[in-house]
Amino acid sequence: MLETKTNRDAKDRRESLNKSRETIVFMLKLAWHKKPVLFLIYGVRLLRDVFDRAWQILLPKLLMDELQLFLTGAEAARHLHNICMYAAIAVGVSLLAGIIGNVVDNQARSVMGEWFREYISVDIAKRAMEMDFEHTEDPDALDALNKAREGMTWYSGGVEGVLNEFFRLIGNVIVLCGGIGVVLTTCPLLIPVQLAALGGFLYFNMRNNKIEVESFERLSARNRIWGYFLFQLTNPCYGKDIRLYHSAGMMGRKTKLLLDKITEDWRLESVGTRKNSWAMDGINTLRDAVSYFYIGYLAIMRKISLGDFSMCVAAASVLYQSLFSIAGGLQEITKRCNYAHRYLEFLEYPAAMEKGSRSVKKGEHTIAFVDVSFRYPRADNYVLRHINLTIQPGEHLSIVGLNGAGKTTLVKLLSRLYDVTEGAILIDGVNIKEYSEEEYRRLFAVVFQDFQLFAFSMKENIALGEVEHAAEEKIVDILRLTGLYEDVQKLPEGMDTMIFKSYDEHGTELSGGQQQKTAIARALYRDAPIVILDEPTAALDPIAEYEIYRQFETLVGGKTAIYISHRMSSCRFCDKIAVFADDTIREYGTHEELVDKEGGIYAEMFHEQAKYYTDIA
Ligand code: ADP
Repeated sequence: MLETKTNRDAKDRRESLNKSRETIVFMLKLAWHKKPVLFLIYGVRLLRDVFDRAWQILLPKLLMDELQLFLTGAEAARHLHNICMYAAIAVGVSLLAGIIGNVVDNQARSVMGEWFREYISVDIAKRAMEMDFEHTEDPDALDALNKAREGMTWYSGGVEGVLNEFFRLIGNVIVLCGGIGVVLTTCPLLIPVQLAALGGFLYFNMRNNKIEVESFERLSARNRIWGYFLFQLTNPCYGKDIRLYHSAGMMGRKTKLLLDKITEDWRLESVGTRKNSWAMDGINTLRDAVSYFYIGYLAIMRKISLGDFSMCVAAASVLYQSLFSIAGGLQEITKRCNYAHRYLEFLEYPAAMEKGSRSVKKGEHTIAFVDVSFRYPRADNYVLRHINLTIQPGEHLSIVGLNGAGKTTLVKLLSRLYDVTEGAILIDGVNIKEYSEEEYRRLFAVVFQDFQLFAFSMKENIALGEVEHAAEEKIVDILRLTGLYEDVQKLPEGMDTMIFKSYDEHGTELSGGQQQKTAIARALYRDAPIVILDEPTAALDPIAEYEIYRQFETLVGGKTAIYISHRMSSCRFCDKIAVFADDTIREYGTHEELVDKEGGIYAEMFHEQAKYYTDIA
């Protein structure tokens, strides 16, 4: 048992050391590429630190020796002059060190620190947006993202926080070497005293660090959920549901429960570290007492001069400070690196999907689902089984079926938000996994049911990634096609009007139908060869819906189109209809072939809806 624990501890230490090494090398390279001036800043500070401490050791001896000579009377004027000169140098050195410290620390901490903080936040955000969609629903990936964010901010201090500790450590090692030299020649027994004290300090500090790192693991997961609750409670877009379903109380209670757990975590951390901190204070006091007793004894026994006595006291203090700083610094840097390493791990987070490099051929495309089955990651049940379907170039396919039949899932598979579990999807006879992701995605313009508009301008929402080269005439044409033109004309700044009021008080709130039209306009602007509309008209009023269908040919043109709709009338506009039920395609054919099929699902659904409309009429 003990053996196993020792082995585990040794393994943990090795891992921790590796992480520290990797993090420091990464940070050094990043700093060198992005802001090499940081090295100049740390270099100047290192020189200042070393010089300052060397002077702290030497000055007492120089002063004491001169004072003693001055008091003995020989060449008193010369010694007085030297005393004044040393005092002046001491003042000058301290002033200069202060000024350099101020300028350099301000530069290093505020300016560079802030720069790197922003750089890392943007980098993490960019990578989060680029990561495989599947990861956005994977709690492990989301935790990794959160730990990368937290690990690179206040836990480690980010690039500046880690490098600051690293260069401090180098400075302390140089000072330590000087201190050891002085102590060895004057009061050598001080070395084992300092080392013993250091051993004790290291031991207790290490225990504290372990407690803090364990606490970080727990807190990071809780903080993510905490952020979710806060976001839900305050985000205006949830306002209606929260108020109408009186969920504020329920969410408040959940938040409080979580907050209690977070507070308990902090309390446990504080209780755990308290005893170790007391032990460290005790060790420091004991070390001081033994050291001063020893140096005092040497002076009283006249084994060292008064000047050496002062130097020894100063050297002992500097020696301990640097030992202390090195020991603390090593642990601190290891701790910081272990936090910051989360960022490196996030950068290397394994992709959920295979990445190909093949180019997509130009022109028209044939889509084929070959015996495709799929279940969502971490789910037990298949939502699609043995799907075999071919969509010819330019064909308009309508997919119908009850809620939960797997229609949207099929679209997600085709647009490669997920990879199939079994079987294959082929485009032009090639497995889609072989295509370059970027080129492949350009094939599609998709409007999902749960499309999102952003708090940007109307124009930006439509052109998105291509907004810098957006052709206004093209946007106007599309606005006309989707029936949005008149509405946009009425907005205070036309298509430059911001959507939502979150970031602009003059922003506009669009109706559900207008939002859906905007999403359709975005898809059309993309000019992709395959258009997929998932419930494109659900939020539209009957007239707008009719308009969209009437213009369907003009909107989609000769492109391949896939429609998912509950309105059976829309199927008439399509060449083929696939009816999804029981996790698979149960019927497939044209409207005419299916509409009167005896006992057919499509026939039943169509006639049910037709009857409803006729009854109303
Ligand atoms: P439809 O579009 O036909 O209404 P979906 O394709 O959205 O149906 O959903 C099919 C099934 O897959 C449903 O049972 C749904 O609960 C499940 N499902 C959808 N998205 C996910 C997901 N991200 N993770 C797990 N299951 C999901």
